Amino acid sequence: MRANATFILPALMAGMSFCFFSCGERGASDAPSTKSEREVFVDSVLATLTVEDKVGEMTQLTLDMLLTGAPYASEEPHRLDSTELREALVKWRVGSILNCGGNAYPPETWRGFITEIQRIAQEEKASGIPVLYGIDAIHGATYTTGAVLGPQQIGLAATWDTAMVREFAQHTAREVREVGIPWNFSPVLDVGRDPRWPRFWETFGEDVLLASDMGEAMVRGYQEGPVPVAATLKHFLGYSQPISGKDRTQAWIPERVLRTYFLPPFQRAIAAGAPAIMVNSGEINGTPVHVDRWVLKDLLREELGFEGVVVTDWEDVKYLYTRHKVAADYKEAVRMAIEAGIDMAMVPVDLEFPQLLMELVKEGEVTEARLDESVRRILGMKYDLGLFHGGALPAAEGGSAAERAAFEGLALQAAGRSMTLLRNDSVAGRPLLPLDPAARVLVTGPTANLLNALNGGWTGTWQGLDTAYNTPGRPTAGQAVERRWAESGGDAVVVPLAMDFGDGDIRAVESAVKRQKPQALVVMVGEMPYTEKPGDIEDLNLPQNQRDLIRAMERTGVPVVLVYVGGRPRTFADVADLPEAFLMAYLPGDYGGEAIAQVLAGDIQPEGRLPFTWPRHPSSHTPYDHKYTDRIHTDFSEKAFQPLFSFGSGMGYARLDLTGVETDRSTYGLQDTVRLTVRFSHGGGREGVPAAEVLQFFSQDSVASITPAVDQLRAWRRVEVQPGAQGETEMAIPVQSLGFINRENEYVVEPGVFGLRVNGHPPVAIEVVGKSKKP
Ligand code: BGC
Repeated sequence: MRANATFILPALMAGMSFCFFSCGERGASDAPSTKSEREVFVDSVLATLTVEDKVGEMTQLTLDMLLTGAPYASEEPHRLDSTELREALVKWRVGSILNCGGNAYPPETWRGFITEIQRIAQEEKASGIPVLYGIDAIHGATYTTGAVLGPQQIGLAATWDTAMVREFAQHTAREVREVGIPWNFSPVLDVGRDPRWPRFWETFGEDVLLASDMGEAMVRGYQEGPVPVAATLKHFLGYSQPISGKDRTQAWIPERVLRTYFLPPFQRAIAAGAPAIMVNSGEINGTPVHVDRWVLKDLLREELGFEGVVVTDWEDVKYLYTRHKVAADYKEAVRMAIEAGIDMAMVPVDLEFPQLLMELVKEGEVTEARLDESVRRILGMKYDLGLFHGGALPAAEGGSAAERAAFEGLALQAAGRSMTLLRNDSVAGRPLLPLDPAARVLVTGPTANLLNALNGGWTGTWQGLDTAYNTPGRPTAGQAVERRWAESGGDAVVVPLAMDFGDGDIRAVESAVKRQKPQALVVMVGEMPYTEKPGDIEDLNLPQNQRDLIRAMERTGVPVVLVYVGGRPRTFADVADLPEAFLMAYLPGDYGGEAIAQVLAGDIQPEGRLPFTWPRHPSSHTPYDHKYTDRIHTDFSEKAFQPLFSFGSGMGYARLDLTGVETDRSTYGLQDTVRLTVRFSHGGGREGVPAAEVLQFFSQDSVASITPAVDQLRAWRRVEVQPGAQGETEMAIPVQSLGFINRENEYVVEPGVFGLRVNGHPPVAIEVVGKSKKP
């Protein structure tokens, strides 16, 4: 009988200290010839494995496969099926499980499932290797009932607060790990360049630098806290810009464009220590990424030096023949994906993958050495997560009440900080917002009375629509406004509307307005939750009934605050200029209702800044860093770029004025650093409110060998100044950061004249001299 990892362990582990991702060499001695403890361990386990064990380690199944009932139709209440469990883990030696059986579970249920799965893996599976369990916990522990749920990524990006995002991820990691799950399929590092795409809201928006900064913060938050989980960077590479805007449809993305917009966030997150990457389900330039050796090997392994685990996305090996039609059958698809470099297949609903892979090895189509490469990485990840030495089992109980309270406070703070005020016109001589919570207000609209609308997809269920899994006690936006207004002796009336409301419902709201005579109307529009394919749309326009509602509410003569709850900027050009105030709330999570109420009442000021360009018309979704030709209008003026709201825009209840922007010199060499001094002062506003702003530093390259972007964000910083006060900050911008990807697909900084612009201040010109070369 082969040695079992559970009894190899004590000998091997004697004297070993456990080390997680941040450990660099992971305990290796300085001598280059000496193997690290990790390598010694992994090699010793690998040496005991058969081909069956190895293909099993490379197989990932969904929990559905282990529950009673059929996959996607598990019997209620969900129970582990001991026969299926043994079939998967003992017979087929499956090394990884993911997901839930379709909906969230209480922590106790998770603990029970994971404990049993690990017991069978460690006691009955031949290798005794613990299972690597993975889940999508993308805005908190989304599949654990009662977990703290914060803003989705698009809202987190709007905070421009990486420290907060990191802390949020750290708390999420704890809630996920405590139920026994050590691996999170987050963050999404696809850059959101097309708002039609149904996963736009899962991104950090359209800017490559902001997405990279946020991505790194999230990865470090997941991995470097006291109770870490492993992060997964997804979806490598080029997933977010299909031509049609529809999920998992073809993309045409030249290498230069891939390197300009889509590669950098992954590069940064890999350098930050992410141990896993998930592959893009789509195809680029006619090649499904799951068989693209250039992407998965040349770029990822050789160029970026990624040594972690490459996991496929859901059923994507099979789709190579059923959808993409690049393989004649499942077996050929398996061979092609293995050759391209995947380590683990998210199969996830059949057991053919390990069987076919075994056959391929027997037939000599795939070598055992090739399996070893992947299995070594998978074992390494399990080792780093501590699964071999006790870390596979859930904590006995959840975190402390203090930890929970801190997390709840942070979720509320993050939701509040994401709120982005895009318009606040004066009504009767003062800005409409904040409203007076001691007065009368009427709240209506389809997103006013549903918690699910605040949370979005991947909440309780995949599509996030089932109210049965909502966190009890969390108020909708309407409820939160009612409560807040009641506290100040005001009167808030909520007139709920379903998503498919009609003219009769609008008339009922109009009657309610006549009866209540409110100071303002809060009209809450947007979208219901969705993700992936079900979120595809035919038209970026906001549905007609919502536009009719906005027009009807304006006609009442009562000032309107439009609140948008949704993760994708739908267009509504015909009524966009009507509302006196406009608040973008994104998908702020379970604490979003309270955050909206606090902003409306003036308890906090909106501090978010838009992480994308809001198009005015459905076909004019052009990001801020477009080219000069994108500006040419039909009359040949340069006014074609007229977004509804610009990237980076947003205002608070007090204004920050820029009083000076200066560079330390006017000429720089290629290796120099520009020191930019920015002076600002509090520009007035609501009494006692500090002016909070995100200083955004954009560069403009006046002439370049590749058509330059009209603006490129190069750095940013949050600043705050008290009423009556002034401030100053210095930004260091290395000249080497002012480059782009040239025709040879290399990063280059070309000498010449550059403009440096900070927010609305006129640009300062600098000259870069020297001979262009790669950094
Ligand atoms: C999604 C991934 C997700 C995976 C596992 C896929 O359908 O594209 O983002 O991590 O499912 O749930």
